[in-house]
Amino acid sequence: MAGVRQYETDIAIVGAGGAGVAAGIEARAAGARAIAFEQASEPGGAAIISGGGCLIVGSPLQQQNGIHDTPDLAFKDWIAWGGPSADVVWARYYIEHTLHDLYHWAEGLGAKWVDLKFQEGNSVLRWTRPERNGLGLMTRLIEGFRNKGGEIAPGIEITGLRRENDRVIGLEGRDAKTGEPVAVTSKAVVVATGGFNSNLDMVLEFNPALRNDRVLEGSGRGSTGAGHRLIRQAGGYLTHMDHIWFYVYATPDYRDPTQRRGLVFRLVPGNIWVNQQGRRFHNEAMSGGNSASPALLAQSPRHAWAIMDTPMTATMEIADPYYRDGDKVVRAKVVELLDNSPFIRRAGTLAELAEKMGVDVPAFLATVERYNQACEQRLEAEPEFGKPLKASKAFDTPPYYAVQIFPLARKNFGGVKTDLKCRVLDKHFEPIAGLYAAGEVAGMAGGHINGRAGLEGTMLGPAIFSGRVAGGWAAHAAGHGCGFVGKPNRS
Ligand SMILES: Cc1cc2nc3c(=O)[nH]c(=O)nc-3n(C[C@H](O)[C@H](O)[C@H](O)COP(=O)(O)OP(=O)(O)OC[C@H]3O[C@@H](n4cnc5c(N)ncnc54)[C@H](O)[C@@H]3O)c2cc1C
Repeated sequence: MAGVRQYETDIAIVGAGGAGVAAGIEARAAGARAIAFEQASEPGGAAIISGGGCLIVGSPLQQQNGIHDTPDLAFKDWIAWGGPSADVVWARYYIEHTLHDLYHWAEGLGAKWVDLKFQEGNSVLRWTRPERNGLGLMTRLIEGFRNKGGEIAPGIEITGLRRENDRVIGLEGRDAKTGEPVAVTSKAVVVATGGFNSNLDMVLEFNPALRNDRVLEGSGRGSTGAGHRLIRQAGGYLTHMDHIWFYVYATPDYRDPTQRRGLVFRLVPGNIWVNQQGRRFHNEAMSGGNSASPALLAQSPRHAWAIMDTPMTATMEIADPYYRDGDKVVRAKVVELLDNSPFIRRAGTLAELAEKMGVDVPAFLATVERYNQACEQRLEAEPEFGKPLKASKAFDTPPYYAVQIFPLARKNFGGVKTDLKCRVLDKHFEPIAGLYAAGEVAGMAGGHINGRAGLEGTMLGPAIFSGRVAGGWAAHAAGHGCGFVGKPNRS
């Protein structure tokens, strides 16, 4: 094909994020040639900007902290939290492989697991954080893939699957900068393009009930659903697409010309959320996707205001590279946001703040007054919703701020249906020859491993794990290795 840049490999991977890089490592370990095509100029995807936390069961870190955990206990929590739409087989498969095939495997590549954090729904601490979060973990995985002879081809956007006699035989795409066409010939393809939560049209297509509300895009920039489209065209089966994990502590990015993206803010101790009626509606300490998000979505209209006074904003962090210089928060830019966003109100008195928010002024003042009294009486928890007051103080130091918060679509819990070898299934649940999918494009693993809610750490962990599974079986189909075996944590 004249004028077309050609690649030839055993395993062609679409997307060099958590799942794609893990697939490449596994394919290389089996002796297959592997190239990961990445549309961005750098690999890493959402995984590299993530918190990096993975749900890991029975780890040395848990033991060091005196925590007794078992796959059975984790599975019980998982199903209780995710509900009947969780894929029980994939959930078991992941949980039982977390110790050896995630924790120790990542350590073998140079990653270090440093601490544990409590997450809602877990009966013990098992959200396990790597050194330097997603950045640290992904840096090691990317190095590991390259050191094993894997290739990452950045700046190439894959736009189609090449097929011959019902078998996927490669990819087509283009150079993201020059538009030069690209053709890839391979023995198997692994699609690892991530989710679709940075594509608001797709979020609303699968959640039409939110069409009249402001919902924010909140995943990695590359999470636009490209892989879902490729696989849908090839006859792949998409499942549980309405299962989207929303977060609430996000305000529109006023610097984004489309105003579709959200900015997540954290570390504002003691802030309270009030609805447009001027009333609190939730225990703000329970800020997870299975507690706070349904509470916010039940408000009318579906937004709220995070109220803070000046000292509370002192430690505020914005989870966006613009507001950071490496590991440090750029305070001046946080202040710039507080002073300039049209979605943030500032006032010298609480009454003036209520007027600027357009809420019911007496109801708002009474809400803050009740909260302040609970703080002043040094109660352990405020009586209305039971929020512990350890990190709280009275609202008493102007200027006061009200940050408008909207549901932010962060993670996809539905996607491409696969079997336990990560082979993409069609509507008859038959595998499509030569086609594999892993990670968030496959609802993190298999299609819907989490169900409606995740215990946290159940996105990146399964994405990496299913990437390994896909890479192993794709290599096997290409004539290399015996498929993914791993080492279950089960005697
Ligand atoms: C801010 C943030 C924090 C998070 N924190 C956590 C956490 O602590 N714990 C947890 O479990 N989960 C977390 N997650 C979720 C987790 O990061 C993702 O679920 C995970 O990274 C998914 O891995 P993936 O490989 O499927 O997708 P990604 O890591 O997003 O990789 C997909 C890659 O495919 C590329 N791509 C897409 N389309 C194409 C195309 N057509 N051609 C070529 N390349 C393409 C993308 O550019 C991207 O690089 C977080 C997510 C975000 C956004």
